[in-house]
Amino acid sequence: MTVRIRSALDTLPAYAPGRSVPGAIKLASNELAFPTLPAVAQAIADAAVHESSGINRYPDNGAARLVTALAALTGAPESHIVTGCGSVALCQQLVQATAEAGDEVLFGWRSFEAYPIVTQITGATAVRVPVTAGHELDLAAMADAITPATRLIFICTPNNPTGTTVRAADLIAFLDRVPEHVLVTIDEAYTEFDDADDSPDGLAEATSRPNVVTLRTLSKAYGLAGLRVGYAVADPAVVTALRKVAIPFALNSLAQAAALAALGARAELAPRWQQVVAERTRVHAGLRELGYEVPVSRANFVWLPLRERSAEFAAHSEQHKVIVRAFADASGGVRVSIGAPHENDAFLAAAAAFPR
Ligand SMILES: *Cc1c(COP(=O)(O)O)cnc(C)c1O
Repeated sequence: MTVRIRSALDTLPAYAPGRSVPGAIKLASNELAFPTLPAVAQAIADAAVHESSGINRYPDNGAARLVTALAALTGAPESHIVTGCGSVALCQQLVQATAEAGDEVLFGWRSFEAYPIVTQITGATAVRVPVTAGHELDLAAMADAITPATRLIFICTPNNPTGTTVRAADLIAFLDRVPEHVLVTIDEAYTEFDDADDSPDGLAEATSRPNVVTLRTLSKAYGLAGLRVGYAVADPAVVTALRKVAIPFALNSLAQAAALAALGARAELAPRWQQVVAERTRVHAGLRELGYEVPVSRANFVWLPLRERSAEFAAHSEQHKVIVRAFADASGGVRVSIGAPHENDAFLAAAAAFPR
């Protein structure tokens, strides 16, 4: 006899471990390509052996000290902040908290690959609204796609994987059209790299509108992808719901200590973000010179809408020892993270050698 697994899971991709190619440059996961700050490493080591809260103890389930630090950073009251095991966990919690079978979760496509997965796990229906020809989220079309079944909307800006941002005025016009009972999530995973002058202030929207939540992560700009720390800023009623569906103690004590240290090291991190932006500008220009179509990115990656040639490009890059992320389908392309200068050079050389 075979155990019964929910049929909703049948068409979900099974976990495939990331292939490691010895000696290859990894530009596939939008990580920060700088060594861990000594202060962060020290905070992790100290937390492991802390007298009263070492790793033999359960972590603080409410991450109180981290929430206090995030309140200081964001200007939001502590009651509006909740942490998660990466903001991808918060994406799943948002779906769990708002949608069930028959309900709709709306997002642009392409956008963050986790949105359809967490939606399907919950049994809700994913509604994908195509991005514009310029690879931007189509907020007008997304507003038109809201139905009585819509429960949750994800707006990713800068958008993963296309790198584009929405404009503040467009987002406000969109939010004004969304019914009050529908929750809108503004996913700002890449906000520290966003140098557009007309980008929205997600925090301001999340603190002034009860149906808006903003997601942030320490995985990208803060260099803590391996420790899994994200947070949401939302109305206290949404915060309470997110806590109810959380896995207990999901944010471990080493992650909490590292996050506190990383937030305290913003002054040291900010120049790294500027270097990423400068390298992104250089990589973008290099690719354009080679004749590639590349939308302007405001994140720490660039998007090559290579469509049916995406898989071929990724395989070609791998032969040049550069691992990129291919989304190989009709709306597909290749996402390339910005790495250290010599890594970006290696990628540009691979791109130059790709037969076109
Ligand atoms: C990377 C990413 C996240 C979350 O990452 P975590 O590591 O789970 O915090 C969330 N949203 C988008 C769009 C991302 O690209």
